[in-house]
Amino acid sequence: MSNTSYNPYAIAQQQFDSVAAKIGLDSATCELLRQPMREYHFLIPVKMDDGSVKIFNGYRIQHNDARGPAKGGIRFHPQETIDTIRALSMWMTWKCSVVDIPLGGGKGGIICDPRNLSEREQEQLCRGYVRQMARNVGPVQDVPAPDVMTNAKHMLWMLDEYETIHGGKYPGFITGKPVGMGGSLGRTEATGFGVIYVLREALKKLGIALDKTTASFQGFGNVSQYAVRLYQQLGGNVLAISCYDAKDKKAYTFRKKDGFNLDALTRITDSYGTIDKDKAKELGCDILPGEEWIEQDVDILVPAALENQITAANVNNISKQVKVILEAANGPTTPDADKVIEERGIFLIPDFLANAGGVTCSYFEQVQCNQNYFWGKDEVLQKLDSKMTSAFNAVYELACNKSLRMRDAAYVIAINRVAQSVKGRGWV
Ligand code: NAD
Repeated sequence: MSNTSYNPYAIAQQQFDSVAAKIGLDSATCELLRQPMREYHFLIPVKMDDGSVKIFNGYRIQHNDARGPAKGGIRFHPQETIDTIRALSMWMTWKCSVVDIPLGGGKGGIICDPRNLSEREQEQLCRGYVRQMARNVGPVQDVPAPDVMTNAKHMLWMLDEYETIHGGKYPGFITGKPVGMGGSLGRTEATGFGVIYVLREALKKLGIALDKTTASFQGFGNVSQYAVRLYQQLGGNVLAISCYDAKDKKAYTFRKKDGFNLDALTRITDSYGTIDKDKAKELGCDILPGEEWIEQDVDILVPAALENQITAANVNNISKQVKVILEAANGPTTPDADKVIEERGIFLIPDFLANAGGVTCSYFEQVQCNQNYFWGKDEVLQKLDSKMTSAFNAVYELACNKSLRMRDAAYVIAINRVAQSVKGRGWV
């Protein structure tokens, strides 16, 4: 979205093709898995508060559902594109597969900027989206969730519209619902915490003490805020955080050499993850250009904003001190930058493994809804930790045994499982 010279779908296909060739996948399975099985594009008319009618473009893409119903978030973003959603739906298939949950991959989006829409307009947009999709999504077909600039409130509007259309209670239609309305405790934290569970495991393997490390984060939204929280709780020191300021139409990096007080920082951050510059200055932060998050002398870089952020243009600005890149966002690294990272020997934890905590907890939410019995937060987080840890260990072991990079090892595991399902079902 933000860097239009790279096409995320082409990148997702390139990553798939290279691993498919390595594992000798047959041509029919390749053709089936290198593109989405179903794509929906529709228009959503919304009556705006001023009486005018605005037409929004909505998408839902189901990449593959051989292992279970498609699963994936719905994004609101002004620069959303169909190819971004195609790529994200494909990465969802690999994500659910690598953590071995019985779900396929899907993704949705609406081209819009919710920062410029009233609550009522956002509600109408959510309901309009579901009216277009109600026959093609649902607990046994395709289960949406929150993503960039959508949250539990949007999910509940969507659920309400779905249940109104179908005349019943279908809590399994959507995940990321508010707690008390079919949501799971721990879902808000899940992606960010999951990112840090795999970092903790990686640092153990690399013989690095987490509580002696420093980090720089790109983005300060849902994923990043909880990742920072757990990383700090485990003793890590965050020296820089960047975010996008829609008013100025540019990003800023906030640096605090002695580390951030997270509670103070979240108090001056809006619901879209934008930190207030003036108040940050009062907290003693230096304010630098947006791209400088990547140039900091830290041990760990955590891209946690959007795709295509580490590119050929900035990869060489990464400090020599950096030992680990933890891909919390989806598709943050372009293939050309990925190559440089490999050559430099930086340990990279790939996106669809690192940020699988959100969908894993969504799966737990479905399980709890099905049994109509909800677990305590500690139980949810313990189960999440155990899933993420075993997925990381399986990928790490394969990477070591077969001399693969972590990204390729994760792909080998994920693609093999999906290929086995499509073959077992007799699709190819
Ligand atoms: P969010 O909307 O809550 O936050 C996004 C953050 O990124 C905001 O702080 C925003 O200011 C910042 N940002 C945007 N453009 C930027 C730029 N150019 N430079 C610096 N900062 C920028 O989104 P989120 O839910 O935290 O998702 C972040 C990433 O993680 C996305 O790639 C998303 O697909 C992925 N992801 C999210 C979840 C989830 O559960 N929320 C799960 C898996 C993956």
